[in-house]
Amino acid sequence: MLRRIQSGEANAILSWKLDRLARNFDDGGKIIGLLQRGVIQEIRTFEKTYLPTDNVLMIAVELGMANQYVRDLSVNIRRGIREKIRRGIYSSKAPLGYINEPRLRTIEPHPVFFPKIKRVMELFATGQYSLTAIQKELAAVGIVGNLSRKPLPLSSIGNFLRNPFYYGVFLHKGEMHQGIHAPMISKKTFDEVQAALVTVGKPRKKRGEKGFHFLNFATCATCGHCITGERHTKRSGRRYGYYRCSHKNKLPHAADRSLIPEEKFAEEVKRNVALVTIPDDWKDKFLAQIELWQNDEAQARQSRIDRIKAELAALKTKIDRLNIAFTEGGIELAEFKELKNPLIIQKTVLEQQLTKVEKGEASPIEPLKNFILEANQAQKWVFENNWLEMKSFLQNVGLNRQIRSQTLTVSFKKPFDSLAKTTLAANQAASESERNSIWWRRRELNPRPKSTNQPRLHAYSR
Ligand SMILES: [Zn+2]
Repeated sequence: MLRRIQSGEANAILSWKLDRLARNFDDGGKIIGLLQRGVIQEIRTFEKTYLPTDNVLMIAVELGMANQYVRDLSVNIRRGIREKIRRGIYSSKAPLGYINEPRLRTIEPHPVFFPKIKRVMELFATGQYSLTAIQKELAAVGIVGNLSRKPLPLSSIGNFLRNPFYYGVFLHKGEMHQGIHAPMISKKTFDEVQAALVTVGKPRKKRGEKGFHFLNFATCATCGHCITGERHTKRSGRRYGYYRCSHKNKLPHAADRSLIPEEKFAEEVKRNVALVTIPDDWKDKFLAQIELWQNDEAQARQSRIDRIKAELAALKTKIDRLNIAFTEGGIELAEFKELKNPLIIQKTVLEQQLTKVEKGEASPIEPLKNFILEANQAQKWVFENNWLEMKSFLQNVGLNRQIRSQTLTVSFKKPFDSLAKTTLAANQAASESERNSIWWRRRELNPRPKSTNQPRLHAYSR
């Protein structure tokens, strides 16, 4: 601007305030000089007009004060940011699902988007969703680009899923800080999200749905290719659905390339789900047993709480010692960060564990109870022919699902694997009493647990 005034393009300045012209003394001095010599004939601000005939001293003082004010301000802002971060307040734009609280200058959960984003995170953590699916999910709940109003680009979704802010910490200039904001997910879920990011990789191509329930569900046991569906129209005009291996080359396993009728495939899914269900009467018996254990549980929980608290206290002492060592100049910044960051992560994890244990979520009995309820729920899906629920249930409890000679085999995860064995044995039992004894047998092998042991039902394999 000064160069253009000097070359005669303009001879006056219009400015909101004089301090806008005083980034530093060099510029201020030049402006005063130009004004004095009449090259600038007028500087007009909102409050005042400055002319070449005015007392230059006053203008210099005004500019000098403005300059000092700007300098103080930037120091104050930096000091303010440091202070905020020390208190655990993330000092940038709030991540998705949070808002910058304007009055307290903290970061708070967004009343509408927080639960929605949380759900999306948890879905992604299951590893069964692609980034494109997450993109759609986010767009569906109204999370789109600020300006474009289009779905967020996949790269921003990747960054969003990698942000450790969501489990309660944040990085500032390479240093890890524990935030005071409400975490959206646990460290465990965050780790699962990271693992899912690796496996999902780049977005997959869309596939036609063709009205099949079980596309992308099972693989061919012979060659490992995906089982796909296709429709055939008979001469009568009736359409039939079949599943088959998607391998292009027909020679290597001609035996298994036979088409599996849609209904037969569905029956196979149902047969597998039925293996890992618990009938109502057994659910009640197991839950009664669990209730007995829950008393012991309370004691065990208290001792866990005490242990975590002791660990936390030790960790806090370590962190304090590091802080003192750093402020006293005992260690370098790089070393300080390297030593401190893992401790902060550890502390966050422990604190989350503590909350969980205190709320009873980390109780070993809870997963057992959930397992029984889940297996009982699965039985209802079998009765209702709820194919979608059966499908996602098998995807949850089975590691892989393979087709060989028109038979579906699922490798069940623990503890569903033992449940499947028990069910098979019970199904082959000759009489009701023999069946009962099979259900009970493993339970008798599992004595009532000591308070420190994890309780086991028969369904937990030994
Ligand atoms: Zn195959």
